[in-house]
Amino acid sequence: MTDATQHDIIRTSAAAQAAALVAGEISSEELTRAHLDRITAVDDDLNAFLHVNTEEALSTAREVDSRRAAGEELHGLAGVPIAVKDVVVTQGQPTTAGSRILEGWIPPYDATLVSALRTAGLPILGKTNMDEFAMGSSTETSAYGPTRNPWDRDRIPGGSGGGSAAAVGAYEAPLAIGTDTGGSIRQPGAVTGTVGVKPTYGSVSRYGLIAMASSLDQAGPVTRTVEDSALLHELIAGHDPHDSTSLTDPVGAFAAAARSKDVKGLRVGVIEELEGEGFAPEVQARFTESLEQLERAGAEIVRVKCPNFRYALGAYYLIMPSEASSNLAKFDGMRFGLRVVPEDHPTAENVMKATRGAGFGDEVKRRILLGTYALSAGYFDAYYGSAQKVRTLVQRDFAAAFEQVDVLASPTSPTVAFRLGEKVDDPMAMYMNDIATIPANLAGTPGISIPSGLAEDGLPAGIQFLAPARADERLYRVGGALEALLEDSWGGPLLAKAPELMNGAK
Ligand code: GLN
Repeated sequence: MTDATQHDIIRTSAAAQAAALVAGEISSEELTRAHLDRITAVDDDLNAFLHVNTEEALSTAREVDSRRAAGEELHGLAGVPIAVKDVVVTQGQPTTAGSRILEGWIPPYDATLVSALRTAGLPILGKTNMDEFAMGSSTETSAYGPTRNPWDRDRIPGGSGGGSAAAVGAYEAPLAIGTDTGGSIRQPGAVTGTVGVKPTYGSVSRYGLIAMASSLDQAGPVTRTVEDSALLHELIAGHDPHDSTSLTDPVGAFAAAARSKDVKGLRVGVIEELEGEGFAPEVQARFTESLEQLERAGAEIVRVKCPNFRYALGAYYLIMPSEASSNLAKFDGMRFGLRVVPEDHPTAENVMKATRGAGFGDEVKRRILLGTYALSAGYFDAYYGSAQKVRTLVQRDFAAAFEQVDVLASPTSPTVAFRLGEKVDDPMAMYMNDIATIPANLAGTPGISIPSGLAEDGLPAGIQFLAPARADERLYRVGGALEALLEDSWGGPLLAKAPELMNGAK
């Protein structure tokens, strides 16, 4: 493959790469190698990957090539490489969740979604960087250094899944897996000009995800196009007996919905509580223009009130730390990864103390303290119990809104990517990034973020659509249609407008 072919192929969609494989224009080994070369060229700068899986990825690719040559019937995405967020366990490959406490741990099994990727023949390029245990909005709480935004290396790529979003945005991978507990797929998508989907809770198995907050966590696709997200979602969704909250529904026709490009008669509700104060003017302007595009294509735009959304952030920061404080109790220096043995009195309790003290970062400790406090006797009703009541109110707001409209819309994130270090010492300012994404996690409903255009400082902004539980197809329908309308107006994908690192010769 010439350098020019390599340059072009990694910039196409996963669907186009899959088609090139089927047509015999390229082998999976060449395609995988092209992405590995790209990682070698740019990842010292970006730090999107914590671990690159060169040998295993190439051997999967060669195996798919020989199965194809033998005329075997293969999955539609067979041979297209993928990156996986480091909170998802991979047998035989390191998995750290961005934490020092898991350094050196090699999982003995695959997450269900990883098994699905392997069965379908997708070479796994490696594991992507993230905020420690998925706590953060900037990837700066990773114990392994921050990931940088490919649009501007002095900016954050969003979080917690900044590594997956940056890898896809910088053409290091055509597809990636993220997880979204409060916005960690959608917000990184918005600030890197990529597409991210948080499926309905239970659509994708949580077996093998290192749990942060079990009632909120959901894995989903990170891609450059809506159709690619739909294809990947179809592959990783489905019932799993290992996850008691896994849905038994048949998997929807997401890709067909993404290709339909038809929004005539679709009722889109603009959430009044998620605009105005706190939202950057240009982010807001791109949002409004996107709605105008949809209206011209035949959608009906309606204003909708969700009065309890203003309490969602507060409720999330009680429920999430409460669940995390319990989930993280298993990192005790006995079973996984790091063990620090103090010289003085190395009792089990002291080993546990020293290990947790050295292995967890500040944000993780902050949330364990918060969660333990919120759950403690005497405070439970005032904090955790009240937060659960707010959760019910948020669910009722969604139910009332979806009586009037088919999907809801808001800007995904209030601002474009901020500078590295800008909010790292101000947890409250950091938490505000998820003001628009958190309600869907509290309600278990699905959401998608797609690029809405360039906003402040020439950086990408995102628009989010939300649908009722189990109606993920609607997200692909509206997302696919808007993507096509916007790309027509821009004369191509938004990512093609990104400066140097992504499109330069390097
Ligand atoms: N930024 C949010 C948090 O810090 C959401 C994280 C996530 O979705 N994993 O909790």
